Amino acid sequence: MSNPSYLDAVSVTKNYSDDKESGVNNIILSIKQGKITAIVGESGSGKSTLLKLLYGLLSPEEGEVFFKGDRVIGPEEKLIPGHDRMKMVTQHTDDLNLFATVWQNVASLLPNTDLKYKETATAAALKQLKVYELKDQRVTDLSGGEKQRVAIAKALITKPEVLFLDEPFNQVDASFREGLQQNIRNIVKETGLTVVLVSHDPAEVLSMADDLIVLKQGEIVEAGTPEELYQNPGMLYTAQILAHCSVLTNQEAKVCGITAQRGTVAINPENVEIANTWGKKKDWTVVQVLFKGFFEDVIVEKEDVKLRVLNLELNKYPVGTPVSIRIKKHFEYGQWK
Ligand code: ADP
Ligand code: MG
Repeated sequence: MSNPSYLDAVSVTKNYSDDKESGVNNIILSIKQGKITAIVGESGSGKSTLLKLLYGLLSPEEGEVFFKGDRVIGPEEKLIPGHDRMKMVTQHTDDLNLFATVWQNVASLLPNTDLKYKETATAAALKQLKVYELKDQRVTDLSGGEKQRVAIAKALITKPEVLFLDEPFNQVDASFREGLQQNIRNIVKETGLTVVLVSHDPAEVLSMADDLIVLKQGEIVEAGTPEELYQNPGMLYTAQILAHCSVLTNQEAKVCGITAQRGTVAINPENVEIANTWGKKKDWTVVQVLFKGFFEDVIVEKEDVKLRVLNLELNKYPVGTPVSIRIKKHFEYGQWK
């Protein structure tokens, strides 16, 4: 390679059958060291396949993966599949021993040649993931979120350089999830760990990732920082993954006062202003209010066109209220979605 960087996929293809739509095709990417890279895409777009290729759990049919310039070898060439300097945690937590304690699960990966180190490193890993207090409990007695914390502590105890997280927080309650995300960001900052994360949750991806890679039908269709892709998604597909946008035809967009040059219009909820003050034409009607905690998603309708609006003034616009709206920003897309 002309310019080896950290973790690179060079024209990597892996199809599970003759079907080009299974697996991934011609993936070219560079994962940056010490950063969190998130891979997003609809279900079946090839996210897990790509992680397995980067980690060495699958061999590419074409192309190669390089870690610091050395080829990552696949399971056929290696006794224990997976690169030695990398670890992966999935949502299944299947490599935990449910009937052993938290401490035993994590400590068991370290050799007995240096018992003092084993003791301090295990304690440090459990503290880092905030499960030290649970150290004497059996894993089977823990909540889903606690099990995930133990699985990550176990993955990190041998100090891998790269941690792959394949939708690891799916089973974790929203309230615990944020703490865990924060802990992982801190670990990355403090230790220089490189994280490659697959996630379905737009909020998680946007708040955690330094870089985003968007996969569609096994191909990378867009990449950039979360800010770049959120503020200016090149594809409707990306806009829909990163925000609960309303998607309208350009005819429907006219109802909102938008004259679009292209066929499809996407409007993010935070880009719609809502009001019911006197003087403005209140030609939209609130048809649904979705309580979201400190905000609401208010669905408004006019001439069969529905729009999702972010509203911070709770209970101000009950169902049936006539309102006026103003759209501050929208995106336009062509036929290709
Ligand atoms: P994602 O993680 O984005 O949901 P996957 O990487 O699991 O996607 O799968 C991508 C595509 O490859 C899907 O169409 C899936 O059905 C197919 N696929 C994944 N694993 C296998 C397999 N072991 N055998 C056959 N097809 C597979
Ligand atoms: Mg998957």
